[in-house]
Amino acid sequence: MKRILVTGGAGFLGSHLCERLLTEGNDVICLDNYFTGQKKNVVHLLDNPYFELVRHDVTSPYFVEVDEIYNLACPASPVHYQYNPIKTVKTSVMGAINMLGLAKRIKAKVLQASTSEVYGDPEQHPQQESYWGHVNPIGPRACYDEGKRCAETLFVNYHKQNNVRIKIIRIFNTYGPRMHPNDGRVVSNFIVQALKGKDITIYGDGKQTRSFQYVDDLVEGMIRLMNTPDSFTGPVNIGNPGEFTMLELAEKVIRMTNTKSKIVFQPLPADDPMQRRPDISLAKEVLGWEPKINLDEGLARTIDYFRSVV
Ligand code: NAD
Ligand code: UDP
Repeated sequence: MKRILVTGGAGFLGSHLCERLLTEGNDVICLDNYFTGQKKNVVHLLDNPYFELVRHDVTSPYFVEVDEIYNLACPASPVHYQYNPIKTVKTSVMGAINMLGLAKRIKAKVLQASTSEVYGDPEQHPQQESYWGHVNPIGPRACYDEGKRCAETLFVNYHKQNNVRIKIIRIFNTYGPRMHPNDGRVVSNFIVQALKGKDITIYGDGKQTRSFQYVDDLVEGMIRLMNTPDSFTGPVNIGNPGEFTMLELAEKVIRMTNTKSKIVFQPLPADDPMQRRPDISLAKEVLGWEPKINLDEGLARTIDYFRSVV
């Protein structure tokens, strides 16, 4: 039985990861400060004697004996990470330092939940791991993008300088059950708006693209990466290469929910990336991984979930 720490474990992705790790027979410690996560996301796991829930902020050091650490603590929705940008930087950077320091002391393996946002508003399409990105260091997204980029730098240097066993995953837009209804990200926004019969808010002209992966595919990729030999550190892209405009996404949601909601156009936020699609050749080659759930199937499951909570 492995002892595993999941920071940000009460969030959307973290809760699915904790669930899967428990199913595989591990001992899981879920650490969260509940900024965007909720106890509700993991309450069904509390009866399991191999699950522990800890209220803690990763900007302060944390001491525990574990074999593996998944570092997911960080708000992920632009609305939430821009709410307190200084705190977002601290969470990414100090959180990485604290988890790397812990991994170094106890000789644990540590995985960093990085992001496609390290590519910024990309000039290379699709994005390969070798691309350095196109990020505005003083824009509204910088607290998240640069925080995550600095975290990658810390991971790579703890590996080189201190032999810490690291893994870096660059996660592309992921959706599914347990996204917070007020999370502000596009998939949850459109579904909640459609189910409530409210206007569907497209920012800009809706021609910007994203590639959406279903949460179960991501969790599979994350665990596969953690289990690779120590010589493989990543970064590796994990995402679904299916690429859609926000207009196409809105039309899909309207059709699948059979709503009377109308599309309205609102201003495009500053520095909003125009296109995003992962090149997943490396994940295919090293992890034998590719996504299995297409957008229609994933959206159907997510819509079912939101029907039960909205
Ligand atoms: P989320 O907001 O649902 O989860 C983040 C969790 O971290 C929450 O439970 C929150 O309370 C917790 N947290 C935030 N600051 C903390 C702190 N200082 N100390 C302890 N806990 C803290 O978002 P998510 O979608 O589940 O994202 C999880 C991770 O994956 C994040 O690191 C995010 O950057 C990364 N990621 C997500 C996506 C995506 O599309 N969902 C894409 C790229 C990267
Ligand atoms: N978006 C939108 N309407 C919304 C929320 C988001 O049109 O109600 C757009 C947003 O401007 C961006 C895309 O959808 O172009 C994805 O936004 P999200 O916040 O989900 O993720 P990110 O921009 O971080 O990829």
